[in-house]
Amino acid sequence: MALYSTTLLSRPAIGWTASPAPLVVLLASAALWLAAPVISAGAERKIKVAATVTMVTDLVRQVGGDRVEVMGLMGPGVDPHLYKASASDIVKLQQADVIFYCGLLLEGKMQDIFARLARTKKFVYPVTEAIPLEQLLEPPEFAGHYDPHVWFDARLWSLCVDTVVKGLSEFDPASKAHFEKRGAEYQARLAELHQWALKQADALPKEARILITSHDAFNYLGRAYGFEVVALQGISTVTETSSADMVKLVEFIRQRRVKAIFVESSVPHRTIERVARDAGVKIGGELFSDATGTPGQRERDYDLGTYEGMVKHNFNTIVEALK
Ligand SMILES: [Zn+2]
Repeated sequence: MALYSTTLLSRPAIGWTASPAPLVVLLASAALWLAAPVISAGAERKIKVAATVTMVTDLVRQVGGDRVEVMGLMGPGVDPHLYKASASDIVKLQQADVIFYCGLLLEGKMQDIFARLARTKKFVYPVTEAIPLEQLLEPPEFAGHYDPHVWFDARLWSLCVDTVVKGLSEFDPASKAHFEKRGAEYQARLAELHQWALKQADALPKEARILITSHDAFNYLGRAYGFEVVALQGISTVTETSSADMVKLVEFIRQRRVKAIFVESSVPHRTIERVARDAGVKIGGELFSDATGTPGQRERDYDLGTYEGMVKHNFNTIVEALK
């Protein structure tokens, strides 16, 4: 599957189908790229971008438009907390002109790779670096780390647009105005999306705004849109759920007369389904937590493969189930 047009490349490249080389060799040869010139205006080829989760992939597409060819490493339904880079991922990262990832340890098992790549490649960016630290949440269960699930607040995700504009412009300074214009247009759409989400949340009475999910991804949604958020698993899906936690959650659901709880697209449904059975409560639907849907998959008037579609699906599902 050729996702970048190799015919237009001016630099030697390893094909996507190349047999995997050892990590050390790949990263060492990546150093050669540093010497390569930044592409100029009227670029004859697209900027090759590697991105991790689908939200970041979509963000780069929105800002870069037809100037970029984005390779997303993680697809729909993939859990970034557990994801380990494959040998072919390393090749893609090495071949990319620019790399964007979420950061804040979301891609927990890829940290070493990003650190090594940042030593040999110039254009490597965690998109969340644009968010002022005081706007990040640091829940106690995150054990001293920031909560990485910032995309659940459209205003914070909008700040991440700045990192993508900066990163693409640093690689291709001649196209800076183009990226700035597209970035500003997208930020205007995200501001509208934020207002839309506020309105949806307002449709629910205060006491109905309780969001119960598998893993602790929705703290930013809770803060931004006024929901009490309860999850079965901690910050990351790495931790296991204890039966004591399940019993506690069942009690909470009964006590608060919660109408519905939710499964997530990137986390196995089993445990939350058991809680629903034990508590005698319905599953309100599947929410996109750490990945969007499949690009091109339509629902109402939106594409579930985009960040905007993900937010709209989540709010429509939550409001429908809890009202
Ligand atoms: Zn998560």
